[in-house]
Amino acid sequence: MSSKTTGLRQWRQRFTALFQDHEIFVRTHGHVRFLRVSAVWQKRVALIAGLVLLVWAGTMLTVLVNQFLTAGERAEVAQKQVAAAAAEQRIAQYRDRVGEVAADLEQRQEQLEEWSKIHFGVEPAAVTDEVGAQPAAGTEAKAAKAPLKTSAMIDPNLPPEAQILARLEAQQESFATRLLTAVNARAANAEGAVAKLGMDPTALVRNAAAGRGGPFIPYRGRMGHARALGKSFAALESALFRMEVLERTLVALPSGKPADVLMLSSSYGYRSDPFTGAGAMHAGLDFPGPIGTPILAAAPGKVVYVGQKSGYGNVVEVDHGQGIMTRYAHLSGFTSRVGAQVTAGEQIAKMGSTGRSTGSHLHFEVRLNGVAVNPRRFLEAKADVLEVKADARERVGSVAAVRSAR
Ligand SMILES: [Zn+2]
Repeated sequence: MSSKTTGLRQWRQRFTALFQDHEIFVRTHGHVRFLRVSAVWQKRVALIAGLVLLVWAGTMLTVLVNQFLTAGERAEVAQKQVAAAAAEQRIAQYRDRVGEVAADLEQRQEQLEEWSKIHFGVEPAAVTDEVGAQPAAGTEAKAAKAPLKTSAMIDPNLPPEAQILARLEAQQESFATRLLTAVNARAANAEGAVAKLGMDPTALVRNAAAGRGGPFIPYRGRMGHARALGKSFAALESALFRMEVLERTLVALPSGKPADVLMLSSSYGYRSDPFTGAGAMHAGLDFPGPIGTPILAAAPGKVVYVGQKSGYGNVVEVDHGQGIMTRYAHLSGFTSRVGAQVTAGEQIAKMGSTGRSTGSHLHFEVRLNGVAVNPRRFLEAKADVLEVKADARERVGSVAAVRSAR
């Protein structure tokens, strides 16, 4: 403490020694004056000068520091701008991708809605219930119960927007898969039934795809449209086409009796002609019965011919689609007109004995793409086939109802 005090005192002594009273002689125009500059006054001047210097130095320092700070800040702002630009670009790219994905999803949704209406006459939400209503053929039930892809399978690092799209896509994909399984099951059932009726399902589908399938395929010629929407959609499209061809063929096949009388089940094929006795091909089945017995359409379809034909006498022909036609001959009268839509079992004519006929009977023919086939296998269809057929008719009928309601 004492040494500090002595040090201070020494400094003070030195400072005081700097300022001593001065007397200055000034000689002006022969007069001598003398000015006295006191030590106190000198000290005051020195102090003021020192203060001014201090303030100046302080100001300069502040300016310099401010300049440094601004430069730093400017660098920071520039850095922020670069980062913002990069982020903006990233967001723009991301937005583009999201837009693309959303457009894809929308197109697929439209396709699914179109298919749902064309093939099931309902909105997509109702389709899998509708399709699944059929007694399950193994895989169908399993697929229908398969859970939707959950959000757990979606990358949690994706932005929320992208997660919504990913979830939608997963749901769509899952729906398409379930629909595909169900449609394949229906097609397989129809294929089995068609084969049991003695028809070649593969040839039926091939012919239909070649555009020879008859007038009922609603979107013939548009095959391959879904290929652009991805593999699962292309698979779904061909499965739907296959189901459509086979089920419509099944519905078109005449399994209803054309008259409520006994048929001569042995009458189809080669036999001796009742008029000439020579061997001749008999292309239909005969149903003997009283004149005027109601003649019924054997399957739903459109009346395409009402009139006379050589040998057949009075004839009605009904087109059932899928290249299938039925012919009813030797009639005594007509109860339908060309162009009329008829249901299975609806009366179209009356039994008779016109044309080359030896007595009152119905001559009944079934033609597939113009070639006569034995109707017996259709008329004697077993219950399992008829069940599949009834299910097919229900679907095709509901679609037809939706289309005619538009
Ligand atoms: Zn005959």
